[in-house]
Amino acid sequence: MSKSRIPSATQSPRFSGIRTFMRLPYEPDSSQWPNTDVAVVGLPFDTAASFRPGARFGPSGIRDISTLLRPSNQFHKMNAFDKLRVVDIGDLTAIPGDIQRTFDNISTAYHDLAAVSVIPLGLGGDHSVSLGELRGLAAHHGPLSLIHFDAHCDTWDNYWGLKYTHGTIFRRACEEGLIIPDRSIQVGMRGTEYDPADLDASRSLGFEVLPTVDIVKMEAEAVARAVKSRVGQNPVFFTFDIDFFDPSQAPGTGTPEVGGLTSLFGLEIVRRLGGLNFVGFDVVEVLPAHDVAQITQLLAATLAFEFVALAALGPPVWNSASATAK
Ligand code: MN
Ligand code: MN
Repeated sequence: MSKSRIPSATQSPRFSGIRTFMRLPYEPDSSQWPNTDVAVVGLPFDTAASFRPGARFGPSGIRDISTLLRPSNQFHKMNAFDKLRVVDIGDLTAIPGDIQRTFDNISTAYHDLAAVSVIPLGLGGDHSVSLGELRGLAAHHGPLSLIHFDAHCDTWDNYWGLKYTHGTIFRRACEEGLIIPDRSIQVGMRGTEYDPADLDASRSLGFEVLPTVDIVKMEAEAVARAVKSRVGQNPVFFTFDIDFFDPSQAPGTGTPEVGGLTSLFGLEIVRRLGGLNFVGFDVVEVLPAHDVAQITQLLAATLAFEFVALAALGPPVWNSASATAK
């Protein structure tokens, strides 16, 4: 019997019904969260973007096309929704133009989720939302490892004197002690920079940086090995900026960079990250208004689907007591 209660597509067509992620139950009531393993969370905030706005419509766009996905994972030969109870708790309150109050709302909800052993799976939103997520999770788990797939390091110091933007959050996360840079890795960096030393600035914070120019010489398995050996069994947050992919694969995003990887290669890496101690995930920077035929939104939805499998494969070290009870 499935734990997640997704309607069968052979009974109810996939294009029908209210749009939650994969037509999962909508569960905004926090008193029900202790019975949950993974909570899909919409983070519709985009006023920290440095170029195109529009990611506030990412969560609804991802949910819309996610109804196409079937629950069983072909790579893992597993239906993760049978193993875990997954719900969609709806959108958190994002306040356009007020990043600190938005961070507070995200951080509070993420802390509450972590406190009852729920793994949040965030749908962005521009990348600034990850700082709110990390604040809430680190308040419960302590400093985290970070797996960060992105064309950009997002470790610049400021934009226009603003310290909190979608391009500066991981420098702030280091300064706030939310992550352990020397157990964290940034994957996929490419494109033009402001300064030749930009990637080195991220490395001097302690991050391992694996740029796209190196990844293309590797097998997906080797990339996954590099990520896993960096993180070990630390509690880890996996953040995935959709601009990691080539714009031909993911055009609906705010700061695209040419010369990126295909959806196939990126998914091949992600699928090989099972066995880590994941405490949260997000997929961010999806802009439906710039998308073509929903392909970016479908890719983001598919990543979220793969994250559920990774949650099911992860060693339930930190929540083993409650996992047994669930
Ligand atoms: Mn980013
Ligand atoms: Mn980016």
